[in-house]
Amino acid sequence: MAQKERLEFISVVVPVYNESGCLDELLQRTLTVLDGIGRRFEFILIDDGSCDDSAEKIVRAAEARPDQVIAVLLNRNYGQHNAIMAGFSQVRGDLVITLDADLQNPPEEIPNLIAAAEEGNDVVGTVRQNRRDTFFRRFCSKIVNRAARQATGVNMNDYGCMLRAYRRNIVDAMLQCNERSTFIPVWGNSFARTTCEIPVAHAARAVGESKYSVWKLINLQFNLLTCMTTLPLRLLTYFGVFTGFSGFILSLYILIRRLCPGGDEWAGAGVFTLFAVSFIFTGIQMIGIGVIGEYIGRIYTDVRARPRYFIDRVIGKKTEK
Ligand code: UDP
Ligand code: MG
Repeated sequence: MAQKERLEFISVVVPVYNESGCLDELLQRTLTVLDGIGRRFEFILIDDGSCDDSAEKIVRAAEARPDQVIAVLLNRNYGQHNAIMAGFSQVRGDLVITLDADLQNPPEEIPNLIAAAEEGNDVVGTVRQNRRDTFFRRFCSKIVNRAARQATGVNMNDYGCMLRAYRRNIVDAMLQCNERSTFIPVWGNSFARTTCEIPVAHAARAVGESKYSVWKLINLQFNLLTCMTTLPLRLLTYFGVFTGFSGFILSLYILIRRLCPGGDEWAGAGVFTLFAVSFIFTGIQMIGIGVIGEYIGRIYTDVRARPRYFIDRVIGKKTEK
């Protein structure tokens, strides 16, 4: 269990993509909160290849408060989660808080996240109260959250909310992984020992519109799915076994009826026999694909090369001079 201790240095990481309209308010509100927490802090803004003047605004903010505001400029658009990873590569704090730039997650919640982390939690998640998104988005989120809960075994209710806090060791763990399809909240949880979830306010987008089109959202959900589990590959095997087995039962049934009086007439049409045979063969093919899938799943796990474990502390080892 992470220790209950005061976290002295807080890093806030915000990905920014064409958010010029929100940036002034974001900077002003977040810096006011951070100035008030009585700890060292750094506020890292990552420009994810914006086409508007977001990058200039971030640079100006970093020049105005060097050492506290840090601008990371990516050369093009790589997507929210990659931008956050770029921010993670620069953090120095004990606790890392991620936040969206569009002010849907109020920065005023940051002290609550710090307090929850200091209770000894590795990851602090949040649940959006009175969520201000479209019905479609909320509906999709519900399905995804349920799937993520099942797959990770971590009982969190809202994986979509990016206002989150991770202890430094969790961020370091994520940085050591090589994989490309990342969904940071799920990933973070897979390295966490203790997690908790706190309710946070949610606002409608202040300016501009969501940077996620339906296609980008679908892509994100696939990232989420593949970063958690290789289950879809295994589903084919299950389905194949089911189909093949049904074909086998059907053939047995046909055989028995054929042997009963009057069966030759019934079975004469042959259409059921055809069904049974095709079920068996389809089943075999699917099992075959499923077995290949098993190998691909293992290749995928090995290629990701996630470290097998992370050592928290080693006590009692003498350093050699
Ligand atoms: N974002 C980003 N790169 C992208 C898309 C989004 O850095 O390609 C940032 C965006 O600026 C915002 C956050 O990710 O800070 C969340 O994006 P958005 O609010 O559009 O997503 P939604 O709230 O609709 O899920
Ligand atoms: Mg948003």
